[in-house]
Amino acid sequence: MIPYGRQEIKQQDIDAVVDVLKSDFLTQGPQVPAFEASLMGATGAKFAFAVNSATSALHIACLALGVGKGDVLWTSPVTFVASANCGLYCGASVDFIDIDPATYNLCPIALEVKLKLAKLNGSLPKVVVAVHLCGQPCDMKAIHALSVEYGFKVIEDASHAIGGRYLDKPIGACDYSDVTVFSFHPVKIVTTAEGGAALTNDKALADKMTLYRSHGITRDEVLMENLPHGGWYYEQIDLGFNYRMTELQAALGVSQIARLGEFVAARHQLAERYYEKLADLPITLPYQLPNTYSGLHLFVIRLKLDEISKTHREVFDELRENGIGVNVHYIPVHLQPYYQHMGFKKGDFPNAESYYTNVISLPMFHAMTYEQQDEVIHVLTKVLATK
Ligand SMILES: *Cc1c(COP(=O)(O)O)cnc(C)c1O
Repeated sequence: MIPYGRQEIKQQDIDAVVDVLKSDFLTQGPQVPAFEASLMGATGAKFAFAVNSATSALHIACLALGVGKGDVLWTSPVTFVASANCGLYCGASVDFIDIDPATYNLCPIALEVKLKLAKLNGSLPKVVVAVHLCGQPCDMKAIHALSVEYGFKVIEDASHAIGGRYLDKPIGACDYSDVTVFSFHPVKIVTTAEGGAALTNDKALADKMTLYRSHGITRDEVLMENLPHGGWYYEQIDLGFNYRMTELQAALGVSQIARLGEFVAARHQLAERYYEKLADLPITLPYQLPNTYSGLHLFVIRLKLDEISKTHREVFDELRENGIGVNVHYIPVHLQPYYQHMGFKKGDFPNAESYYTNVISLPMFHAMTYEQQDEVIHVLTKVLATK
């Protein structure tokens, strides 16, 4: 099976991890700060915090932004559940903004309409989580302008987008957001096995995220309430978690990040081949927003079902049966039973639901060979041509 995504581990990655195993520190050593420095270097953000998942990064970002009971978090319904769940972890409620049918990202026009209504009802969101689906950046300028006008905070869920660019800046620069989050799960662009990071340019948010990552404990005398009792002294000044990344993971991350440009460039070459060789099939190929460079975590096509004599499910099953490990990203979050029990229902976000009826993620990973890709193209062409 050719998977839809997978990691690339080279000897240098293995060596980096083995070196850590032989060193003094398996956790809380020099590799995590080195990885954070490489993330700041790659993005231009002033602060970066490596954690054990993007889910944890989203959680500490929400906490640092003060999300709590009585607050509302908005995000796109077409995302992984974690982009919404982080609001629930903080005791806030969650709502969604429908997607733009061209970019599949949350639609800034729908956002503005919903904000106008929310202002009248006194139910403005505390935070909007903008998800760069497939690596395609959201319209951050528009979202940022609305955040200034309506007074909400912005988190970029850039789990799909490391290595991409928005206008002239790397994703993660946080020019139009308060915090940007990355995921380093093995299907994503760069991996640390499990892992994530939260980046910001705001010192106050940075100080909070560093506390929430590790039990709310500080060793910084400036932050303490009491005078230190001695060299052993630390203080818990807030309630935090153990969301730390290990040294093994961070060393893998440092080694992988060195190839970030190469990884994303290889994805773009594969995408170009898909655009060229799939142009005549009854599908919609991904649209790219001008002046952006996608991280290209996913390559999503939409089936033109009225031109195909098969259902979405039949096409999906036949691709899988023929060794093509396609997937669907994503089941709209508001259709998940947990969210339905909160009152969301079918019909709430029509663009997201329509997207879900015909979308398929084709294999896209930097180590995919052209031979493998040609096999994907061959099988897809066959499946779509035959009755
Ligand atoms: C993968 C993903 C996450 C969660 O990442 P983890 O590192 O597995 O916690 C969050 N948001 C989006 C959009 C993702 O794709």
